Amino acid sequence: MLRETWAEIDPGRIVDNLRAIRGTLPAGVKLMAVVKANGYGHGDLEAAEAARQAGADYLAVAFLEEALRLRAGGVTLPILILTPIRPDQAELAASQELTLTVTDAAWFRELRKGRPAPAPGGRKLRVHVKADTGLGRIGFRTEAEWDALVPWLAAPDIDVDGFYTHFATAGQADTAYLERQACRFAELMERCKASGIAVRHYHCAGSAAALRFPGLALDMVRIGAAMYGYYPPQLTPPVQLKPALSLHSTLMQVKRVRRGEYLGYDNAYRSDADEWIGTVPIGYADGWSQRMRGADVLVRGRRAQVVGKISMDQLMIRLPGPCAPGDRVTLIGRQGGERITFAELAVHIDGAAQEISTALTDRVHRICANEKEVQCPWSSPYFQPHRREATVI
Ligand SMILES: *Cc1c(COP(=O)(O)O)cnc(C)c1O
Repeated sequence: MLRETWAEIDPGRIVDNLRAIRGTLPAGVKLMAVVKANGYGHGDLEAAEAARQAGADYLAVAFLEEALRLRAGGVTLPILILTPIRPDQAELAASQELTLTVTDAAWFRELRKGRPAPAPGGRKLRVHVKADTGLGRIGFRTEAEWDALVPWLAAPDIDVDGFYTHFATAGQADTAYLERQACRFAELMERCKASGIAVRHYHCAGSAAALRFPGLALDMVRIGAAMYGYYPPQLTPPVQLKPALSLHSTLMQVKRVRRGEYLGYDNAYRSDADEWIGTVPIGYADGWSQRMRGADVLVRGRRAQVVGKISMDQLMIRLPGPCAPGDRVTLIGRQGGERITFAELAVHIDGAAQEISTALTDRVHRICANEKEVQCPWSSPYFQPHRREATVI
């Protein structure tokens, strides 16, 4: 590894988180581990392997390409693609034993166009039907739209493995809208059962819903954020979730600036006093966006604030005192008794923890923290085959 900016990932923590989550679920509920967006920035194959070791039943990704990458990497668990794919890609998906999300009859009409009528006995296309109960993103919305889907779902080559929806406000303290969505989903499940379509898995809960309301677990839960240790900052999880990623860099330059000097582009910061300033080689092209301006990092176990505009490759911090080039800078994680958490940063950017880890670009090397000397996928092309003394996150 040449670059002095890196993320440490501990797959053992993903395993621990999933096992802890599993422990809160009613017996028999299946666990779908969501590894989209490169495993929320932790590495997709690595997250998938951790999920397998934790006993996950299913994986989910957002797009066909993500699913194909997992299959090419040797992942054999069932994989649900959460976003509808084009009908002309269905054959490729089926050949890789992928499960598709379907939302409307028009998709099936397109799928069947110019093809012989499906016959029993051949390979089946596995689908999960998605209902929009209030998120307003994807899914059928009305009873009429469901009724139009039924004949297509009843075809002999279609396997309706699931029926699901997704909540808009599962991470909010106020549960009124969540309840409204859950009631709407219950109505649609009734409609589905009455139509005679045999569905294997009804599911509606992502991390927050599953952990807050085990009654919403139904047949399966879709766990993304929580498997990486994330939880809505204003709520307390029922189990301990540990972050699996920490982010570090190294002081590149240290200087004393005089009161009134400008730092960074557009003179956006002017020093209030004589100050020690450090330059850190991480910027928005690494995924550390302008929104991190004003956030803290750790140096020598103490907090230091990001000052001035963050540039593409570097940022400046106001140091608590003289430090040396080469000192470790921790942007997420622990140094001594101090800690910068995802929750703190999520509040700072008025966003979610997963926005921070998924934003980290390929320029940030991922290395395996390997806290417990377990299941570290050193054979993985993703992690740098380079041992560095692991930092406890
Ligand atoms: C991303 C996603 C999830 C995972 O949600 P988390 O809150 O990260 O657990 C579940 N379901 C759908 C449909 C998603 O798109």
